[in-house]
Amino acid sequence: MLTKLLLTVLLALTHNSLFCWGFFAHRKINQVAVFLLPPGMMVLYKPYLDFLEEHAVDPDKRRYVVPAEAPRHYIDMDHYGKYPYSALPHSWHEAVEKFGEDSLVAHGIVPWWINIMMERLTKAFRDRDQTRILKFSAEIGHYIADAHVPLHTSSNHNGQLSGQLGIHAFWESRIPELLADQSYDFFIGKAQYIDHPSVFIWDRVLESAAASDTVLKIEKQLSLKFRPDQKFAFENRNGAVLRQYSSAYTLAYSKRLKGMVERRMRQAIFAIASFWFTAWTNAGQPDLSALQNRNFNELELKEFERMNTAWAKANSSAKDAEGH
Ligand SMILES: [Zn+2]
Repeated sequence: MLTKLLLTVLLALTHNSLFCWGFFAHRKINQVAVFLLPPGMMVLYKPYLDFLEEHAVDPDKRRYVVPAEAPRHYIDMDHYGKYPYSALPHSWHEAVEKFGEDSLVAHGIVPWWINIMMERLTKAFRDRDQTRILKFSAEIGHYIADAHVPLHTSSNHNGQLSGQLGIHAFWESRIPELLADQSYDFFIGKAQYIDHPSVFIWDRVLESAAASDTVLKIEKQLSLKFRPDQKFAFENRNGAVLRQYSSAYTLAYSKRLKGMVERRMRQAIFAIASFWFTAWTNAGQPDLSALQNRNFNELELKEFERMNTAWAKANSSAKDAEGH
């Protein structure tokens, strides 16, 4: 029984840590971002709100079918020395020249990948291509949100190097799931035009990197004040006993972080809406009520299905192992 329980706990923790921001937060972030847009964009984005929410998590599902996907979600800034990491050029070409592409990919490429997604989205607006506008909008939202998470910029991304295994999902899933709907303020103003998207996103990555030590340190200090039985709660979900951080521990951590999770979530929402707006503006603000290519073709629908199946399979095999 004890072995079974330990296995369950281990799987629950490692399994949860696979996802960025958690599905709940990614969906919420894309959803709220739509309401920062001007009327000329709302005409397309609001009717497709469900699509933008649902596909906010496609990049995480794609990890199960595309091996190259994983490094697009993070960057281990601590690999490049100390803040502000001046050893690492922000230009992709200069960075490749200095470190080589393989090494860059091995330590994560999220800021550069956001540039690529921005180019794709801008081109989709220029081509007046509705399906691509929606798909790339949903997906760039995911990567921008990930860049706002401190532990997405640290090699100790799940506390595995400091005895804090599980902290990744604790910060980005457990806290927002418990608090976002009840107490976060999602009045964020309006999307703004960004002159230099690449500079903007590197600033956010550096903020994340500067905060990652605090995220780890505060949890470490807090854990000394809670007994293990106060720190964790066991929950029976679909016949499986899952261990998760208790509400009391989650609230105490969030309080000590002084609103950091809410702040980063709000900044991510503002950034996403502003990137969408900037791409649309750079493409000449085409009329979004009269676009072409309004339906996904069979191949594209199959691709969505393939990602969903692979993700559901990985998810259910983890659940099976958890339950038995
Ligand atoms: Zn992600």
